[in-house]
Amino acid sequence: MGLPGIIVFIIILAAAVGLFAMAIRQRYLILRLGQPEDRFDQIGERVKSLFVYVLGQKKVLDEAYPGLLHVLIFWGFLVLGLGELQFFGEGLYSGFVLPLLGHYPVFYLIQDLFAVLVLVGLLMAAWRRYVVKPDRLDHNPEAAIILSLITGVVLTLFIANGFRAAAHPAASEAAPVTAIISGFLGKQGWSLETLNILYYIFWWAHVLIILGFLVFIPYSKHMHLVACPFNTFFRSLNPMGKMLQPIDFEDEQATLGVRKITDFSWKHLLDMLTCTQCGRCQDNCPAYLSNTPLSSKRFINNMKEHLLECGKEISPGIARASAEKNESSGETEILLESSLIGGVIAEEELWSCKTCGACQYICPVMIEHVPKNVNLRRYLAMEEASYPSGVDNAIRCLEDRGHPYKGTMASRSSWFRGSWAEDLVKENNKEVLFWVGCTAALDDRNMKIAQAFAELLKRSGVRFGILGEKENCCGDPARRLGNEFLYDGLVRDNINLLKKHKVKTIVTTCPHCYNAFKNEYPQIDSEFSQNYEVYHHTEYLAKLLKEKKLIIESAFAETVTYHDPCYLGRYNDIFDLPRKVLQDISGVKLIEMQRNRGRSFCCGGGGGGAWMEEEGTRVNHMRAEQVFVSGADVLCTACPFCMTMMNDGIKVKQAGQDKVVRIYDLAEILEAVTQKNS
Ligand code: SF4
Ligand code: SF4
Repeated sequence: MGLPGIIVFIIILAAAVGLFAMAIRQRYLILRLGQPEDRFDQIGERVKSLFVYVLGQKKVLDEAYPGLLHVLIFWGFLVLGLGELQFFGEGLYSGFVLPLLGHYPVFYLIQDLFAVLVLVGLLMAAWRRYVVKPDRLDHNPEAAIILSLITGVVLTLFIANGFRAAAHPAASEAAPVTAIISGFLGKQGWSLETLNILYYIFWWAHVLIILGFLVFIPYSKHMHLVACPFNTFFRSLNPMGKMLQPIDFEDEQATLGVRKITDFSWKHLLDMLTCTQCGRCQDNCPAYLSNTPLSSKRFINNMKEHLLECGKEISPGIARASAEKNESSGETEILLESSLIGGVIAEEELWSCKTCGACQYICPVMIEHVPKNVNLRRYLAMEEASYPSGVDNAIRCLEDRGHPYKGTMASRSSWFRGSWAEDLVKENNKEVLFWVGCTAALDDRNMKIAQAFAELLKRSGVRFGILGEKENCCGDPARRLGNEFLYDGLVRDNINLLKKHKVKTIVTTCPHCYNAFKNEYPQIDSEFSQNYEVYHHTEYLAKLLKEKKLIIESAFAETVTYHDPCYLGRYNDIFDLPRKVLQDISGVKLIEMQRNRGRSFCCGGGGGGAWMEEEGTRVNHMRAEQVFVSGADVLCTACPFCMTMMNDGIKVKQAGQDKVVRIYDLAEILEAVTQKNS
């Protein structure tokens, strides 16, 4: 290429890179609007995440078809990126050879093959988007522009290389697709000069498309190409059960939840910029699928739009002022001060969330939805005392009576049989505290689970105690409903109670209590994990079976499906243990519902859902339908909320049907099949 061409190329390249850099700088300033958060721990683990989730595409591949097409395009582009250096170089100077790689025919072969793979990925993407048209994808011009740009990049690469190889045959030897194209072009009878001119036309077309794509990236959902590696690096390394940060109520400067966009930490803002709009979260969101106003995808993207709107006129001064919480009065600052609730996110959306965690478990780019929701709820609950109908009663009851069940006539000891009376914890010398939890203690159906588990402990010879009337709510409902202040008080009272009774081991049938003790109490009492061993009853029963303290002696000849409670499965990664216990019972034929394990469907009871009025389709009815579709005769679960919700759902679904599905807690099934006097 002559000097004028090289100068034009340099000007265009500099302009494109400059525009890209300016847009990225603006995104960086936007992130600085957020509050500080330390995500620089465990650097080794964070680097590993890049290999596993970015290069390895582990989460992306959770879904076969979209995963495969993404991997083809992603890996194809990585390899083509190297080839671009050679491509640009040889266009500028015909003798250019990329150091190390440019000498090897295999380099051209690989580049050729990966370009084909990108085309295959693009065809798959176009088929899915324009023929299959899944509901979860947005149908807007942006997607068409991106697909066209990437297709343009690959086609112009092939054609330019084809013309070049037709003019200089040696270059095509190892690249089969380029060889086919150059063979075709070479037969057209064009002169060498014409071939060279056509080569440069397509070379320029390629350069302009790829640089245009570069400039477009920050303004499109393909911003995730830049943001995803950072979001993955800074992902939460804690179990999902630890995702909520406590509020230090001693700190007078502490913000009570999130009202405006800048109340979020920079990591939450990075989440918003990273969303690819793939819709996987929405496809698994019980709130969305049951037609509530909430869609997990929209939730993130509405805040993203607001954030970008705020960031349009951002300057380093505004970013600094926001981080330092200084007030000023420009248009951008007014936008930054505006409330998210009502304007960007409706209150109904916030209260529709079940905090089930399906969205963030599934999100391929590590976006954390639930803490955003709960932080917005915190503002409503603690600053405005604003709750949906039904929830205010539960909160008041928690404050007055230490449990959320207004109107219950039961006491915390109603379930307790006389034969266990000597086991009360007041003797302070028991191996194990059975923390019963509000629902198992106060709800008629769930009392049977408490009784079954107590019976199993007796059969195993475990000397256990309960706190009876002294037991309080663990605090989980208050926390999920945003009342962190109430939660904090309950936790501190409970920690004192546990200390007073010299408890060492806590076992509970409720995954919400379990999650609180296992993951959340240690956030308030740093010695909690050292002082107490915490078990969910599924873990404890598996342990008793393994130690042969509990012996299975009879069969349970049923087709059983297991419903994963969100706070046991997704929150605490306990998926296999309950299944293993069931499989160890002879006669059990364990089958899976279509949505299981990490992709299990919520029962609708979490996040305060148990106390809210549901309009339209009910989540528990949807899950009950899934149980019926599975063909199981028995539904087994391991959570009192799931028991209540699924019991109702199953009753409604089987009304008027011949098929009957029975529902049991794992403890009830074990009570039926284990030795009575071991
Ligand atoms: S936590 Fe569950 S209900 Fe809430 S947005 Fe995520 S998937 Fe939907
Ligand atoms: S939040 Fe995650 S799963 Fe949901 S649309 Fe965005 S990238 Fe996809």
